Amino acid sequence: MASHTHDDGSDGPTEAAGAIHIEDLTKQFDTDEGVERVFENVDIDIEPGSFVTLLGRSGSGKSTILKLVSGVMKPTSGDIWFEPDNVEIGYVFQSPRLLPWNTCLDNIEFVHEHNPGYTEEMGKEYLDLVGLSEHYHKYPSQLSGGQRQRVGIARALSIDPDILLMDEPFSNLDEITAEELRAELLSIWQQLNKTIFFVTHDIDEAIELSDRILMLGEGQIYADLEVTLERPRSLDSEEFLAFRQRAIDTFHDV
Ligand code: ADP
Ligand code: MG
Repeated sequence: MASHTHDDGSDGPTEAAGAIHIEDLTKQFDTDEGVERVFENVDIDIEPGSFVTLLGRSGSGKSTILKLVSGVMKPTSGDIWFEPDNVEIGYVFQSPRLLPWNTCLDNIEFVHEHNPGYTEEMGKEYLDLVGLSEHYHKYPSQLSGGQRQRVGIARALSIDPDILLMDEPFSNLDEITAEELRAELLSIWQQLNKTIFFVTHDIDEAIELSDRILMLGEGQIYADLEVTLERPRSLDSEEFLAFRQRAIDTFHDV
């Protein structure tokens, strides 16, 4: 991952957000049993600064779509492009993939090896942002699961991405910790104005977080729901429950 330098040569958050365009995207894998087509002719447009969630069952192809967007995997056919076309993309995985022999701060520094503009102060700033001010010099083994995932988020944000891809980032955490991190993610998203393309199989999580929910299944995006609920969203409000029922009905329709 490359570093981001601003037009004025300074470093620090740009509050820049990128648009994602996906057109006619098809991905298939050649396996021993033959060709497995994961999805076909998928079109997605994501507005800059929006929080869009891809919701689908396990195996529906969610991670594959994020890998294609990040460029680590190539499509069978179709196009993916961004606005601006030189966007920085941050990636948060289900498990944070920290180097165990590096402290929190060194895990962040690691992705800035080729960034001469990186300073330790910047690393600390991002750890502060995710509530880890007391833990700069701790090793991953000295942190809770939630704290480790916070380091993963700080590391992704530290490249000042225009787009943040998040692949089930809270699904390995206990529900109370996951809920805390969701609230913090929303607050960070509102502060930094990033485009977030989030993946989950959890309907409640999708409704709580997103502006839009795209449902992926049987090789298609079969629903595109705008979440009109005001923020902050309370999971037991009447509006939330009504929206949830609608989403569940749609989810089971396929
Ligand atoms: P999800 O993230 O929604 O659980 P994935 O995108 O990981 O789903 O996988 C979708 C389908 O593609 C699965 O059936 C999976 O087995 C298959 N798949 C993913 N990656 C590969 C690969 N590298 N080679 C072969 N099949 C793959
Ligand atoms: Mg996955």
